[in-house]
Order: sequence, then structure tokens, then C-alpha cells
Amino acid sequence: MSLVANIIVDVPTLQTNRAYTYSIPDAFTGVIEPGMRVVVPFGNGSRKIQGFVVEVKEDKTTELELKAVESLMDSYPVLTEELLRLGDFLAYQTFSFQVKCYQTMLPAVMRAKYSKKIKIIDEIPESLLWDVFKGKAEVSWEEAEKENALTQIIQLEKEDKVEIDYDVQDKAAVKKVKKVKPSLSFETYEEIKAGIRSNAKKQKLFLDILQSLAQDAALTYAELKEWGVTSSTIQSGVKKGWCEVFQEEVYRDPYAASTFERTTPLSLSEDQAHAFQEIHQTIRDEQHKVFLLKGVTGSGKTEVYLQTISEVIEKGKGALMLVPEIALTPQMVQRFKGRFGDEVAVLHSGLSNGEKYDEWRKIEKEEAKVVVGARSSIFAPLKNIGIIIIDEEHETSYKQEEFPKYHARDVAIWRGEYHNCPVVLGSATPSLESRARATKEVYTLLELKSRVNDYPMPEVDVIDMREEAKRGNHSIFSEALLDGLKKRIKQNEQSVLLLNRRGFSSFVMCRDCGYVLECPNCDISQTLHMDTKTMKCHYCGHEEGIPNICPKCQSRSIRYYGTGTQKVEKELKELLPEAGIIRMDVDTTRKKGAHEKLFNQFERKEASILLGTQMIAKGLDFPDVTLVGVINADTALGLPDFRSAEKTFQLLTQVSGRSGRGEKEGKVIIQSYNPDHYAIQYAKQHDYDSFYKREMHLRHLSEYSPYYFLLKVSVSHENEMTAAKKIRQYTDFIRPALSNQAIVLGPTPKSIARTHNRYHFQVLIKYKHEAGLTEKIHQLLQETQKEQAKGVFISIDYQPLDFI
Ligand code: ADP
Ligand code: ZN
Ligand code: ZN
Repeated sequence: MSLVANIIVDVPTLQTNRAYTYSIPDAFTGVIEPGMRVVVPFGNGSRKIQGFVVEVKEDKTTELELKAVESLMDSYPVLTEELLRLGDFLAYQTFSFQVKCYQTMLPAVMRAKYSKKIKIIDEIPESLLWDVFKGKAEVSWEEAEKENALTQIIQLEKEDKVEIDYDVQDKAAVKKVKKVKPSLSFETYEEIKAGIRSNAKKQKLFLDILQSLAQDAALTYAELKEWGVTSSTIQSGVKKGWCEVFQEEVYRDPYAASTFERTTPLSLSEDQAHAFQEIHQTIRDEQHKVFLLKGVTGSGKTEVYLQTISEVIEKGKGALMLVPEIALTPQMVQRFKGRFGDEVAVLHSGLSNGEKYDEWRKIEKEEAKVVVGARSSIFAPLKNIGIIIIDEEHETSYKQEEFPKYHARDVAIWRGEYHNCPVVLGSATPSLESRARATKEVYTLLELKSRVNDYPMPEVDVIDMREEAKRGNHSIFSEALLDGLKKRIKQNEQSVLLLNRRGFSSFVMCRDCGYVLECPNCDISQTLHMDTKTMKCHYCGHEEGIPNICPKCQSRSIRYYGTGTQKVEKELKELLPEAGIIRMDVDTTRKKGAHEKLFNQFERKEASILLGTQMIAKGLDFPDVTLVGVINADTALGLPDFRSAEKTFQLLTQVSGRSGRGEKEGKVIIQSYNPDHYAIQYAKQHDYDSFYKREMHLRHLSEYSPYYFLLKVSVSHENEMTAAKKIRQYTDFIRPALSNQAIVLGPTPKSIARTHNRYHFQVLIKYKHEAGLTEKIHQLLQETQKEQAKGVFISIDYQPLDFI
């Protein structure tokens, strides 16, 4: 009996969303394993494509004529058994292609066409050295393949005799340093020293250093400079034959240059200790449980994370720590590297592809036990997980908006079940969904009720911008905010100013009374569509003209709302010429490392005001910040999204948390056109629980999450009529599978009705329990394949977060 492999091939269509069986040539028997990538012939023309091996088994149906695996792409399984199964689950749950799920789990270098190199690092058999390596130190994967030597190479890698690496043509990543090494013996240096003039102090110093170095030791230019040796001294040394200069490639560690001061565990407060005990218990018992750690900003959630991770490492297991991309600041990294040193791998989008791959490899080889990273790190190839933590669990960035549209929280819980370990969801402002699950005891609620050292929560003032306008102040800044900024400058303290970019310019608001145009059917604000010059409701499709006069107060100052950071900066400079301002937005942080640079400048107090968008709202801990100003609290409230109040409350609470984190008392000033809105009022009072109650009540009335689950079906086509017709057809197809408890909203055109010359329509399904729905949607996808091939695009979003 021979061996066969089941393979998921890289052809993203539904026919291929299941494994194909290939025979395994003798050469690969014993080498090929599930989780490896291979090249296989596919289709009528037998073109060569990639695939993931998901199973290797004995073939019982020998009469079948199978195509054979062509070659191997990996020397070891790049996906573990666990990740293979997870991909299978994700494909089903998120209505995505399995191969896409697998690709998403791997670092970018492994997705694109990068070449691999095999390097000799120890003695290898003579025959191989000449036939395959042709006497050289390295050979490409393809050449080795041509010589039919892959099986041997893979064996040699297991014996640590060769090394396989990606040839990352990532200039930024391959960093080289200039080094200096001695070229003479100890005695010779002694002779030279005796011969030089006594006032040639620099040369003497350099010679002393060279003499003190071991034969194969070397120093970098930077190190020598610290000793006081200049590059001109080095140059002349080279000319005289005292030393040699050479280039060396450094390991792509983005944090190599940073030194991390080691920290020790703090003694926990009562609340912290209780939370720690509960989580620790599940680590000890190897029990899967989901905790919701709700702690006000500055309550010391991170210390709880650190100490539970410590326990996990003690048990020889690994820990996964997720933070939102924008909160993955150097300060955050410092807290983990400071406690766990080199055991920490950091994955975030600021890394080059080479750096990401190196970090991934460290995890894969179990050299790093703690993974700190943004959303996609949830797929980190840790083999033995002891805890998974998601900080700021309410953040919408944990949901990927492209296929596969997974939510990191769902993946975390799946992996937590697999590894029998706890999952901790932390937040000062948990999502309503998670908080509701804690009430139902699906999650275990742990609370940190006060700030560490009992620092008070900052005082929050809400400024009514309508009043400012009445008094003739048409500036972006209220008098109170401007005064506050001036006072901080005088006292040599710092301020943070937030410009809320969400909903920027997309809705219409009256500047005099704060009126926002809402849909008559849905109680949700309408969105401005510049293409059609109309206002539209994204839920029910209602449409009307753009108002010129406020329907409520008859004022003419009704207009698109929005202000850019640049404009704010300009006005700020005019009003406060003496202020140093650092602006942080997408424009100023595009370059790699820019974030870090700006934060460091602010930390060194090179500026008194940090002005920015959402990216400054999180995770920063500056003791001298005593004022936080929110320029426009309302913009998100105007969005056509049933979560807009929740998001506003979360954002305001987060930014408020940036103030008064040191010993000095903090203050927050929120500017608003809706100062009485409950999201703003409860944020002012730091009252999550009341906000939660009120918002749950509204969600109950309007029949939204967490009372209902959501599923969004979107259709697009070049032709508007076709798209409209299809979405209606598909809705009719789904409807029979639904009970009368389900609610169907739409179909309606999407908020951006046309992009790339395609027309978009959607239908939203709200439901509680619909046993047949998932299957029905899969059926829909199956049955519409022909239409999809002809340009009708269908996409399914399970638990959508994005409605705009
Ligand atoms: P959160 O993540 O809940 O906003 P942090 O973890 O950032 O809060 O904690 C705020 C500050 O309190 C940090 O500077 C942290 O080092 C400090 N801290 C946390 N726990 C303790 C403790 N038990 N004793 C003293 N300081 C603590
Ligand atoms: Zn008005
Ligand atoms: Zn409506």
C-alpha cells in the first residue's frame, strides 16, 4: 500500500474548498507531513500550483489514477495540526476559502514568491557537497530540488548541518554594521606603541584597545566611538595595517538597539490579587475559561497580565498577548520585554517582512515563549499555549475587514479550548457583547474598581459648543480649552488633544443647535452622499435631499461636519505661538519608526501639546500630562452605526484615561454639540455600568446586538440593475431557512453605493438562533458559483462591525 496526501490547493474557488488527493513519490515518503506546503499539478493542463498538505494516509483505493506531489516547499510543517484544524473551522464560520485562511496564518514572506537558500553550517557528506552545493557554501532551494536532494537536505536540517532561510530582499531589514578587528599580535602592538610619539594620544588609545581584543573579536564603529576613537583614527589605523574593517549583517531584531530595564513583579492590590488568583487557578487546573477583566484606566490590568504570564512560563508553556495595533507602542513593548526579556517576540505591522519572519521563526522554534502582537498574532505558531490575553477587547480592529473576516476574540476562544487554557479579555470599557456574556456567566467577570494607589479619576468638563457659538466664539477651541492649554504651558505640564476622525465629514449637523439629520424609520443618522447629492439611510434605504436650513431651529449654519488635524494645528499655532506642538496622524506617521520618534519627543518634553487622531488615545502613560482635550466628541455619534454611542463612550473614556496618571491631578475637557447625550454624560462621570444599562435597553428596543446576532450579505455588480436584482433573489433564497424570529433588513444599497464602477447592495439578517442559516448561506455560495464567475460578487460578513 502506498501513501497519499490530502491537499488544499491554492485556487480560491469553492470547488477547491476541500482537499484533493495526490500520490506521494517514494522520494518524499517519510519526509512529507501535514502542515507542509507543496507544489502539485492541477487541472486539465496540470499547471503547477501551491498547496497545503492537511493529511497523509495510506491509500486503500489503489485503482484510482492519482496525480503525484511534484515537490516540497518547506522542510518542516509550517502549520501545526492545531492550525490546520483552526483553518478548517474558520473557513466554515467566516465563509472564506480554506487556503486563504491558511495563508493568513503565515508571515508575508511565506506568502509571496520569495526564494529560499540552503546554507551549510556543519560537515555534510562529500557527495552532496560536490553534486549539489558544487563546492559552495550555499545553494538555492530550486537547485537542490533539481538535483533530487531535498529529502537529504531536510534530514540534514534536522541534524543541524544545514540551515534553510528565506532570501528576503528587504533592504531595510538586512542591516549591516561596520566592524573593526585587530590584525596584529599582542607583541607587535607592544612594539608599535613603543615607537610612536608620546603626544599621539588617540593613536595610543586605539592601539591599546586593539591589543586588548582577542584574536577573532571585533568592535563596531559606534562602540569605538564611545571609547573616544574617531573614524579618522580608524582609517589611518587601516592604512598602517594595524586593523581591518569589515561589514557584518546583524540579526533583524527591531528592538536590538533598545535596552530594556528589567522589572520585577509588583505586590498586587486586593482587586488585582483576586483577579490573579482566579486566573491562576485555571492555569493550574489546565482548564479553559473565558475571563472578562474589567478595570478602569490605570487600574493595573497589565500587571495582572504580566504575573499570570509568569506562571504560564513557569509551567513551560507559552503566552499570547494581543493588543490593538495602535496601542502597540514602545512603552507597551517595554513592559513585556522588561519583565520577560528575550523570551518575548513582538509582531506588528511596523516591522519589515524580514523582521516579522524572524520573530515568527523564534516562536516556531520555541525560542520565544511570549508573543506580543496585534490581531494576526492570534495565529502565532505557539505549540503549547498556557494563556491567551486580549487587551482592549472592545477594539473593532480585532475584526479583520478582508477575507477571512475573522474576529481575533473568536479565534482566541477556539485556541483556548484546544489548549485547555484561560482566555482573558481585558478592557476599561468592555464591548456590550462581552459584558452581556459576563452577566449570563458565559464569561467570568473580574473587576479592578479603582486606580492603582487610589489616584483619582480625572475631572471631566463638557463644554457646550453651541453656547460658544452664541457668544461669538467660532474658533475650533472653546475658551475653557484654550485657557487650560495656556495654563499647562505656564506650569511646564503637558496636554493631549484628540481630534476624532471617525465619521469625518460624512454627516450633516447644525452648528447652532447640534441637530443631526436622522432617518424617519430607523432612528439612525443619515449619511451624506456626495455622488448623488442626497442623504441616505444605510439600513432601510430611505433617501432625501441635503437640507439647507436646520429643520429644528431654522438656522442656516447646517453643514458637513469635520475638521482636519492640519487645520487644527494651524489654528493652534496662531492662538498659542509659544506652544510646541507634535502632530500625530496618518500623514506624520507613515514612515517606519515615526510613531516611536514622535512619542519619544513628547516624552522628553520637547513639546507641550500632542495633537492627534485616535492613535493617541491608547496605552500611553505620560506622568506630566495633566490635560486631555477632545476637540469634537460628537463626530462618531453622527455615524449610521448602531454602535456609535458605544464607540463614543469608549473613546472618551480611553482618552480621559490618559490624564493624571502621575502624581499630579488630571483634567479632561470635552467639546461637544450634544453635551447632554448619555454617552458623553456617562463618560464624564466615569460610569460604565450606567452606560451599559442604558445602552442595553436601547439595543433591546431596537433589536440589535447583543440581543441579536447579525449576518450581512453583500452583492456587487457593474450593472446597478443586475446587482439589485441579484440581492433580491438571494434574499428570497435565504428567507425560507429563517424562522419568524429572524429579522431581515433590506436589501438596500450600501452607503458607498458605487466603488470601482461596481454597485453594492446589502441585506442584514438579525437573528437569535437559526440552526439552518449557516448551512443555507454555504448553499447559496455553492449554487451561485456560475454567476460569481460571471461577475456577480457575493460576500458574507458574519457578525459585521462595519456598516459604513
Ligand atoms: P491599565 O492597563 O489598567 O490602564 P496599567 O497596567 O497601565 O493600568 O497600570 C497603571 C500604572 O500602575 C502603571 O504605571 C503600573 O506600573 C502601575 N501599577 C500597576 N499595578 C501596580 C501595583 N500593584 N502596585 C504599584 N503600581 C502598580
Ligand atoms: Zn439647528
Ligand atoms: Zn432608515
